[in-house]
Amino acid sequence: MKADATVAVYDVRSDADIAVLRLAADGIDARISDDSEGGLNPGFFVTYGVRVIVRAHDVDDAYVSLGIERVSVPAQVADAMFKHAGWAYPNEACGLIGIDDTGVPAFVMCLSNGDAAPDRFTISPDEHFGANRFAEGRSLVVGAVFHSHPTSDAYPSRADIEGGADPDWLHFIIGPVSGPKPLIRCFRIRDGFVTEVKVTVEQ
Ligand SMILES: [Zn+2]
Repeated sequence: MKADATVAVYDVRSDADIAVLRLAADGIDARISDDSEGGLNPGFFVTYGVRVIVRAHDVDDAYVSLGIERVSVPAQVADAMFKHAGWAYPNEACGLIGIDDTGVPAFVMCLSNGDAAPDRFTISPDEHFGANRFAEGRSLVVGAVFHSHPTSDAYPSRADIEGGADPDWLHFIIGPVSGPKPLIRCFRIRDGFVTEVKVTVEQ
């Protein structure tokens, strides 16, 4: 078959086999590739592994079939996060994100890191309250948080996972800020489990 879109990357072959079976049950042809080219969307597929590939016109249905959550981020929101991450370097940057009723980020409020540290962050209750007020005034809610990793990859650290993260929030991470090409990635963190949410930055 002519396949041209990666829908998921797994660490082990058996997980990819299960994904292919799930896709087949929904009438979507898929194949597995073990290539390590680095991904069609490096903002998401930053790890190499066993890739599940579908036809491009099936990719939206395939995400639904596999239960892969996606979030679309306006370019100016992403830009603000990257700029704030650079400004705060070598410490972690942080901020809160207002989302609309469809879950799309509508604004980002870049905040001060109360810890002023390279490996952790704290948002003050006052700034959190201010962000809530700002969102309420625009019929939005604060539904996501972002922070940067100055020198490590954009993946939740042990502290991020164990830090009492709000299970209903999206967690955006930018990193490594010191690297030539920091990435923005997004995660759900629930009960110690991390699930990646595919980020698309709108241009
Ligand atoms: Zn972190």
